[in-house]
Amino acid sequence: MSISADQKMDLLVSLAKRRGFVYPDSEIYGGFANAWDYGPYGTELKNNIRDAWWNMFVRGRDDVIGLDAPIIQNPKMWEASGHVQNFTDPLVDCKKCKRRFRADHLLEARQAEPGYDKERPADLKDLRCPECGGELTDVRSFNMMFKTFVGVTEDAAGAAYLRPETAGGMFTAFKDIRDTMRKRLPFGVAQVGKAFRNEITPGNFIFRTREFEQMEIEYFVRPEDAPRAFEMWLGEMKKWLGEVLHIKDENLYYHEIPDSERAFYSVRTIDVEYRYPFGLKELYGLANRTDYDLKRHQEYSKQDLRWMDPETGEKLIPHVIEPTWGLNRTVLVTLLEHLDIDEADTTEGDKEPRMVLRLPPRLAPVKAAFLPLQKKDELARICRQLAAELRYQGIPVEYDEGGSIGKRYRRQDEIGTPWCFTADFESLEDMKVTVRDRDAMTQERIKIQDVASWVQDKLKK
Ligand code: ATP
Repeated sequence: MSISADQKMDLLVSLAKRRGFVYPDSEIYGGFANAWDYGPYGTELKNNIRDAWWNMFVRGRDDVIGLDAPIIQNPKMWEASGHVQNFTDPLVDCKKCKRRFRADHLLEARQAEPGYDKERPADLKDLRCPECGGELTDVRSFNMMFKTFVGVTEDAAGAAYLRPETAGGMFTAFKDIRDTMRKRLPFGVAQVGKAFRNEITPGNFIFRTREFEQMEIEYFVRPEDAPRAFEMWLGEMKKWLGEVLHIKDENLYYHEIPDSERAFYSVRTIDVEYRYPFGLKELYGLANRTDYDLKRHQEYSKQDLRWMDPETGEKLIPHVIEPTWGLNRTVLVTLLEHLDIDEADTTEGDKEPRMVLRLPPRLAPVKAAFLPLQKKDELARICRQLAAELRYQGIPVEYDEGGSIGKRYRRQDEIGTPWCFTADFESLEDMKVTVRDRDAMTQERIKIQDVASWVQDKLKK
């Protein structure tokens, strides 16, 4: 069945709601722009991705350690980092329909138009409102940090910010980590947590929201080691995308950001982009930030943030390679990449889309479902006992006896469950159950006593 990119996005958004992955937030109050709830399966999927990331990059490595800093920190740090001054988006409003846009996005779209001379930089004067063709206002800078107040009075002295990225905490904790963790360069500090930005442009489902989760590493290196470390992290990001998320190479683009578009402190930046149904856009980022951050924090805090080589006594400010992964965008691309849509016949003789979420088993919210073929006590008992045994071993599974077997399979296919086990009357004789593989669609009979280890083995692969 050939479906357009728009249809795919619509089908995903409706599946995500119908099957408890992602709901529109505060729906009983009419919803809230760019805000979404992760439902039961979405929460599991997001947790599984976060755990896989932490296992691969923190627990799985000798040179990276974890941190959990607060969302609201001393506001001075955002002056040092440059966010108070520079963390702005260029905005324009349509004078006619009053819609608001990011000027940089409109320029990019203009340059991507067929027939547009790519050599010619797009000019703001060329732009009209993409919705109604109306005239646009001049560009205004808008700081995207959320401001709040600490303490009982709302005065300037108590003003603070919700962090716009998790990276800051790794720099402010650098001194304590340096002094307590006995790490030699190169080493990294990793953090996962919420970040907040006052995004004003349309979200494209969970692609762009005001609060989101980042998984970030600040990797501290000797200056001469930075180019090698950059390549190493590029390789690690590729490995994560290929081996953990199973994203096809053809859907990814590694965008080397040219000198003219990079932040002034960065000597190399690559945006990892994904072919979303709404276009090729950023998924992750990788930057060589030089010694900019630690130098600025040293200057503003008046603390010595140099690192001392224990052998030579040499003191230096480490350079930083920063790979950043957006967790919510990872959930989105995982769903998009593995959502397989084909056509099925309805009972009325029409066609309807049939969806299978071919999630890698490690990431699937439910690993196995136990489905008695008929509603009979003996069959139910086998399935319930197996489900309990797997749960006891820490494997999330479901038991489902309601509705036809076809409907129950389809539900599990739509939530991405890799294996469905059925018990039938033969099971009472041969003490075996049938396991159906979601992707191969093979059916195999295995001994009831072997089911738990069979699933455990499969999950290791
Ligand atoms: P964009 O250009 O899409 O606004 P950015 O370049 O501002 O992104 P970074 O500051 O590099 O993004 O943030 C690092 C990562 O955090 C991004 O690669 C993305 O995965 C994630 N991210 C950033 N902003 C958002 C958001 N509003 N909603 C969800 N994820 C986000």
